[in-house]
Amino acid sequence: MRAQRLAALLLPLALCCAAEPAQAPRTVQLAATSLELGYAPQAFELSDEGLSDWVRTSARAVESYYGRFPIDGVRLELRAVGGRGVRTGRTEGGRLIQVVVGRASTRDDLRRDWVLVHEMVHLALPSVASPHHWLEEGLATYVEPFARLEIGELPAEEVWNDLVEGLPNGLPRAGDRGLDRTPTWGRTYWGGALYFLLADVEIRKRTDNAKGLRDALRGILEAGGTARSYWPIERVLEAGDKATGVPVLAELYARMRHDPAPVDLDALWRELGIERHEGSVRFKSDAPLAKVREAISISPRAGS
Ligand SMILES: [Zn+2]
Repeated sequence: MRAQRLAALLLPLALCCAAEPAQAPRTVQLAATSLELGYAPQAFELSDEGLSDWVRTSARAVESYYGRFPIDGVRLELRAVGGRGVRTGRTEGGRLIQVVVGRASTRDDLRRDWVLVHEMVHLALPSVASPHHWLEEGLATYVEPFARLEIGELPAEEVWNDLVEGLPNGLPRAGDRGLDRTPTWGRTYWGGALYFLLADVEIRKRTDNAKGLRDALRGILEAGGTARSYWPIERVLEAGDKATGVPVLAELYARMRHDPAPVDLDALWRELGIERHEGSVRFKSDAPLAKVREAISISPRAGS
């Protein structure tokens, strides 16, 4: 799982070619909207219902985190390839998501998938200029596991363990500059995720846990910031900060945009009460920021 996540994120999106012509699109009903699902007839061994269930579950994670599905009228195209499991995906202009799926995938394979949730999270952020690509990929990398945790699809230990293992990829290496100036894979996906984890922790510290990153992200969405819009990064961060009442996103961006801004991750894990233990993690409830970690992990349900 963890290795798969890291390896798959290494795949250039260019590998995800155009979908095969999909026929007879199905409408998948979500909580308050629907999306159109298209794939070639008999492309997959799994039933139409099995595929629709996976789409609904992925959407439910995003609905839960954001309070609603970010955009109405999205089309999801599946392209079948040999083998099992979900390979890669891309989101285009907030209208189309394309995902490459093994034709022999089972319900269990799809249950383990993170790619579709990752792509759906992209819907909930405006497009930004290319030096800020880390904002888009970091957000999807950070939010996806917590959204799935929230609907019971991932255990908290696995979510935090993935962060403990993955985030060192996002730390600045010798010669690296800030996030806007180092467009490597590690800094784009995991450096961006680190920005959002630090933001989540800091918002919660400054608001005595009353607000978190999700409030900022919901604020951006409510201000009309979806993948169908193109905003300057300052406008995105300002909309998020307005929703929490603390200028954490803008301040953190100022700190990390041009300069390497190294982070002592071991110290952060200690503060949050996260200890490595036999290939996973265990939690310490007496750590200084244990309540912050718990609030990030156990978030209010949709609509709250
Ligand atoms: Zn992505």
